[in-house]
Amino acid sequence: MGVQALRMASGKEACAWSPTEITAASEALDRLGTQALRWVGDEGVTGVVVMFGLALRRAAPNSPGISDAQRAAYASLHSKLLNAIIKVCRDAADHVLSPRAPLQVCTALIKTHVLRSFCPLLAAAASPLLPAGGAGQPQPRPSSRAVQAFLSLLKDACCVLLLFHDALGSDYLSDDDYNGLASALHEELAASGLLEHWARLALALASWEEGEDGAAKAQRRLGCSLWTLLDYGDTSPLVRSFTSGACPSLAYLLTSHLVALAAELDGGPTYGLPTAPADGSAAGPSSSSSAPQPRARPAIPLAGSQGYVLRHRETLDVSVAVPALGLWSQALSNAASTATGGFTCCPDVQWPAAGVPTNPWSLARGVMECRLGQLQAAVRERRAAAAEAGAGAVLGAPEDLEAAGAEEQCAGMLAALRRREPLLDCSAAFQLGMRLARAAACALRGCTLSLIATSCATAETTEAAVQALIAAHDTAAWTDPGSLPLQLQGAEAAGRLVPEKAIVLAWRGLGLARRALDLARHMCDGGCPGIAPWLKRRLGAWWQATIAWAGLWRVEANGTAAPFMRVRDACGLLAIKISRAVCHNDAWPSTAIGAFYSGAHKYMPVLESYIRNSLTCSGLQSAGTLPGSALLWSRMGSYSRPGDVSSFAGTLAKLLRAARTPPASADAKGRRRGIAALTGALALSLEGPSYEHPALSPASEGQAPQPDHIASKDKPGWPHAAAHVALTALPAAAALGRALAPGVLRRLDGGGALELEGDGGALGDVVALLLDWLPPLLVAAEGRRAGSAAVGSVAAAAADAADSKASSSSASDPSAPSASEREWSAFLWTELDPAWALRVGLRLAETAEACRTPLPGALLALAVRAPSRLQAMVAAAGTEEQGREAVGGALGGPSLSALRRVLGPGGALSEPALLALIEAAVGCGGGASGGPSVELSGFAKFIRNTASLMPPPSEARRSLPGCSNPACTNLAGLSEEALSVQQCGGCDAARYCCRECQAAHWEAGHKRECRAGAAAAES
Ligand SMILES: [Zn+2]
Ligand SMILES: [Zn+2]
Repeated sequence: MGVQALRMASGKEACAWSPTEITAASEALDRLGTQALRWVGDEGVTGVVVMFGLALRRAAPNSPGISDAQRAAYASLHSKLLNAIIKVCRDAADHVLSPRAPLQVCTALIKTHVLRSFCPLLAAAASPLLPAGGAGQPQPRPSSRAVQAFLSLLKDACCVLLLFHDALGSDYLSDDDYNGLASALHEELAASGLLEHWARLALALASWEEGEDGAAKAQRRLGCSLWTLLDYGDTSPLVRSFTSGACPSLAYLLTSHLVALAAELDGGPTYGLPTAPADGSAAGPSSSSSAPQPRARPAIPLAGSQGYVLRHRETLDVSVAVPALGLWSQALSNAASTATGGFTCCPDVQWPAAGVPTNPWSLARGVMECRLGQLQAAVRERRAAAAEAGAGAVLGAPEDLEAAGAEEQCAGMLAALRRREPLLDCSAAFQLGMRLARAAACALRGCTLSLIATSCATAETTEAAVQALIAAHDTAAWTDPGSLPLQLQGAEAAGRLVPEKAIVLAWRGLGLARRALDLARHMCDGGCPGIAPWLKRRLGAWWQATIAWAGLWRVEANGTAAPFMRVRDACGLLAIKISRAVCHNDAWPSTAIGAFYSGAHKYMPVLESYIRNSLTCSGLQSAGTLPGSALLWSRMGSYSRPGDVSSFAGTLAKLLRAARTPPASADAKGRRRGIAALTGALALSLEGPSYEHPALSPASEGQAPQPDHIASKDKPGWPHAAAHVALTALPAAAALGRALAPGVLRRLDGGGALELEGDGGALGDVVALLLDWLPPLLVAAEGRRAGSAAVGSVAAAAADAADSKASSSSASDPSAPSASEREWSAFLWTELDPAWALRVGLRLAETAEACRTPLPGALLALAVRAPSRLQAMVAAAGTEEQGREAVGGALGGPSLSALRRVLGPGGALSEPALLALIEAAVGCGGGASGGPSVELSGFAKFIRNTASLMPPPSEARRSLPGCSNPACTNLAGLSEEALSVQQCGGCDAARYCCRECQAAHWEAGHKRECRAGAAAAES
């Protein structure tokens, strides 16, 4: 029969059977059962699909030359054929048939355009149900039989989509098969208009009593297949067709569903609803050209949470909401990437003097218009160049086509924005996403799970944690300028949402809200002169809600905590990505940053709990790449609580120590890389507070520092936090670096490249951290010994004030090192070994960008603050390249030849002035040793004159959070600060998480400290 169908399709046989023949074929199918299909072979499978398409086309009204009787017969035949096809695929899954059979079925469905054959049938079914001409005239009630027939049509179309879903999910597909099928499917779906016709019939049916339940069921089924289909492959053709206006009914169905769901959950209004599709505007290959005019009021009632016309129901289902949120997010992200041309910031928009737009719509349009103008100019330029070259005005090169394509896409997007396509409505999207997230938070009330909130220190009970979560959703920030404030009510309906579904709704909702802000966010990154108040408010509210959700944990039966949201989802939300260009831009609008972080002071505890507890590689890797740049980290640091930073550094040190053992698996390797990346990110965040003494700031120039000024440091905890980072994270990082270096350097010496994604990148991050911290540590360790002339009386006075413990004893001799300096000096020169970091950093600077950045600062600080140390290092390294083989050696620093090669003219890091300074310092550059022969830069002067704020290590160690055993690896609990510890009975200063840690630390040296500490306490 399949072979016969193929012959028919190729025109070798009559194009239509008589009703008798069709009935005979149908009966033959029944008789054979579907058992026989396993023998039909490849050609047969294709043939059955062809016949299915043929039967669909013949069953459509107005099919030429087909009688009503034939049509009815074909209609029953196509249903039977579909069942047969489903059986083929099911048999393949049960290993009765070849596992590739579903792929063959799907390929045949696409190649023979069967999906399109559904459209005329769906259109014919929908038109009698919809008000004619949109005039609101009631239509005659359809018969129950007709409704049943329409419903089975909806169901059949869903079944076909499910075939694709199953085929794409099968294990037997090769990558090529998979990608080929997924992209062919998305192209075909976009071109066929099937989803649009489907949505239109579903909406039409939902407004009739008999059709309601069935339509809702069908919508749930469609929701399920859309959900999974969207996870496969590149969906851009599909998404483009949504934003091009070709799918008004589908866009309406999905968005109205979400609005109705939000209203049902929180009792809030349904305004913000997109306009309904104009009746009869079904799209598809034939009708997508003329875009429908939006209507003021929806002609079709709101589709409720289950696809019903809005009314109260028992359970709440999110199977349509989730793909709807996903699609909407994709549409918005498509708009943002069109506006930015794939970069992460927007074109330079020249806003009028009045300032940035007061609503999201005009902002989005303005950005898009600007981008279109730029693209048009580029295309004109290319045309002119092509004409000049004599090639006519034809654009041929790939870049030309790309520019023209981008221009076309941008113009399309702008038109869609002007039409106010519902899926591009960033205002409604933001509000809806936040409302759904808040409703999901309300759904957790009375939750039987035991919940705790990292982001809320006071939330000790589940109920308090949930209340804090709800409170983190600031409704005042969601309203549009000019519209009424949102009145969200009781939300008993939210109670009908189970926690698992609530989480999904929350992170998808927050994802949508984030996408809705993207265009505006990118615009600010692009150097927008100001930030609209509405945007600032929204950014702050979004962060607050996101961090609250990510910081919610549940306590498992064995007492351990697990993230409430999946690690991947949470990390996706917490990721901060800002373009590289922006990070180097001094004119960063600080107001935008303020908006980001006003709600983000809880970011670090949440992040700490994730890196502490997420033991999967993927989770940690994404956590490691979370913040876009060191600058972001430094801002984040300044918005955090010092105690949180200390705790974070403690956790990081433990992870670094654990990463030192050679990884056994690729997973462990990725984890090591993730930890190193986080370490690198922490580099810049805290050196500032370690040595920028307020008394030395330019504001006090020419004035003696006032003692009260020094005493009233605005952030009293910061110097301690800085010391904590130095004392915990740096030694652990140095040890990891020493474990990684031999392998990486051997590879480099063998002519290999630096593997930035592997150990090479990890070593680079670790070395960068150590080099970044060298200047503040030098300031702390080499204070007044740098020469009495170098550090003025101001710095000395400031240092005395900072050294609260040691100042009185050493004040008599200003040139002698204070107790604090002695301690920091011992820490720096014996525990950290900066010579090693400098030597490796110099070697990496020839290869890796990362190490170049902090290297000049580190060398400069060394040359001005501790020239004799530098001299000793260079002397130990020798003039020749002994450093290369002596990688593990203790003494050798950077050799002079390596310094000259890297810093000299033409070197990877050409800094001739710095090189001259170093040569003068080590006494071999011919510079007069009496005074600096080189003009000192501002940074050098600052390093020379500044004083350290950090307390001495012995004092800082007493306030370290967590376990006092420096070798402790206990990662229990959500943070280092929250680790339960017991005080040492001898000194009351040390604290331990367990007896083993106490014993280990006692042997490692606490024996001595403890007695000294106890004696000091008594005296
Ligand atoms: Zn411990
Ligand atoms: Zn003790």
